[in-house]
Amino acid sequence: MQQDFDVIVVGSGAGALLAAIRASDEGLKALVVEKAPLAGGTSAISGGGIWIPDNHDMPKAGLRDSIDVAFGYVKACAKGLASDDRVLAYVETARHMARYLAQIGIPYRCMPHYSDYYPAIEGALPGGRTMDPVDFNAARLGLEGLSLMRPTNPGQLIFGRMNINAVQARSMLARERKSKWTLMWIMGRYFLDYPWRRKTRRDRRLTGGQALVGGLLTALRQRNIALWLNTPLESLITEGGCVTGVVVQKDGQALRLQARQAVILGAGGFERNQEMREQHLPKPTDQGWTATPPGGNTGEAIRAGAAAGAQLHLMAHTWGVPTMEVPREEKFRPLFVERSLPGCMVVNARGERFLNESGPYPEFQQAMFANHAKTGGAIPAWIVFDAGFRAKYPIGPLMPGAAVPDSRLRKSWLNTVYWKGETLEELASQIGVDAAGLVTSAARMTEFARTGKDLDFDRGGNVFDRYYGDVHAKPTPTWRRLTRVRSMP
Ligand SMILES: Cc1cc2nc3c(=O)[nH]c(=O)nc-3n(C[C@H](O)[C@H](O)[C@H](O)COP(=O)(O)OP(=O)(O)OC[C@H]3O[C@@H](n4cnc5c(N)ncnc54)[C@H](O)[C@@H]3O)c2cc1C
Repeated sequence: MQQDFDVIVVGSGAGALLAAIRASDEGLKALVVEKAPLAGGTSAISGGGIWIPDNHDMPKAGLRDSIDVAFGYVKACAKGLASDDRVLAYVETARHMARYLAQIGIPYRCMPHYSDYYPAIEGALPGGRTMDPVDFNAARLGLEGLSLMRPTNPGQLIFGRMNINAVQARSMLARERKSKWTLMWIMGRYFLDYPWRRKTRRDRRLTGGQALVGGLLTALRQRNIALWLNTPLESLITEGGCVTGVVVQKDGQALRLQARQAVILGAGGFERNQEMREQHLPKPTDQGWTATPPGGNTGEAIRAGAAAGAQLHLMAHTWGVPTMEVPREEKFRPLFVERSLPGCMVVNARGERFLNESGPYPEFQQAMFANHAKTGGAIPAWIVFDAGFRAKYPIGPLMPGAAVPDSRLRKSWLNTVYWKGETLEELASQIGVDAAGLVTSAARMTEFARTGKDLDFDRGGNVFDRYYGDVHAKPTPTWRRLTRVRSMP
């Protein structure tokens, strides 16, 4: 086995794989060591979206941007938590990275209607900076390569099988008219692809994080870069204050590997390490609440880096999203988008709303911690929706009631995943929420729904909030006047 490398990359998420490919293109011999039996980490189950200011695809969509404007926007968003040098390094080089991705066979396209997360901050654009990977044909990776890549979450697939890209997912969620045809196209394409389906159940058409990591693994294989799975980093080797190699576990033994030029740590965060969570993150905290692969990111590389003298930064800061538990699923489900749809509200144990349901997900989880510190009742918080919402929209694992009524939902989900009451008071007593508070919040929501103006949290008040709303809802995509709908039997 070859043990002679210029660069050793730890982890096989998107950043790690791209670093190894780039090193190889610079003429260096690279090795990727990955702890898990499958490659791709969280990156492989993600949406694969990247935020690239002034990217090469914007002019094609008739959009213009500038590095100065983007710099001002990120600086303001970072609220002093990142140095100017670091912000500038990002906004200046991200577009070169996007071009390089295209050169190595992983093209991205800009999403002209996907707004920056903070439209009120100067320099924000209503679309174009977020880029989505172009669908990737898994045949280019090959069946063996595909079998080494972590599959996406079943919940992100159509009927547990077919991949869907971000533009199509949004179209269906927003109930655009064309989405019916899109669904038929996705299904037809999958089922008619008999030659491929004979070989594997996994969809040939990779989207989102699967397209990104599938493309990266293809590029890795084209360059014959070694990828060692089941090979966790244990520690870094240092000589004279410099990192010169790694100690990994391989086949049950500690193995020392020298890296002539560099060791690159791309082994994710520490979300699966309970001890580190308790040390660094706001409380309460539980490693089981994350939507990332179990046992994956337990922070060894961060600790190894710190032991070698690296400074740590932003350890108390998470890029978080609200999640929910679904029995028998290996990880919690993230709720990225459904909460924007009209007819739902999020409340704490007092039955009070405390945030803008449609806002960016990092803000959502920060609001949960802030409210919990104040009231002791926002973790867990409750998403409460009416029969109209249930009939039309998906939420977590529940498909719209019009397609899958309650009678066809898994029996074990009642009172574990969802609770049901004929009145707000009945529901409140089931979930342990203050009934009077819940009734007051619902009445106030009903009032806001008439005008589409949220006087408390400005839900739907900007272009980002409305992106994942229902295009047919009146008066706005995030507010729907209440009508009487029978509960789904
Ligand atoms: C459902 C979902 C959707 C998302 N969508 C987006 C999106 O569209 N855009 C976006 O920007 N972000 C998105 N995110 C967040 C994004 O996926 C992550 O921030 C990103 O993938 C992290 O990349 P990473 O390389 O740091 O970690 P990972 O992709 O998790 O990779 C880390 C790898 O390191 C390995 N590892 C850990 N410890 C060791 C060790 N000791 N030795 C060797 N290997 C080790 C892990 O097994 C893992 O494979 C999403 C997240 C989720 C859960």
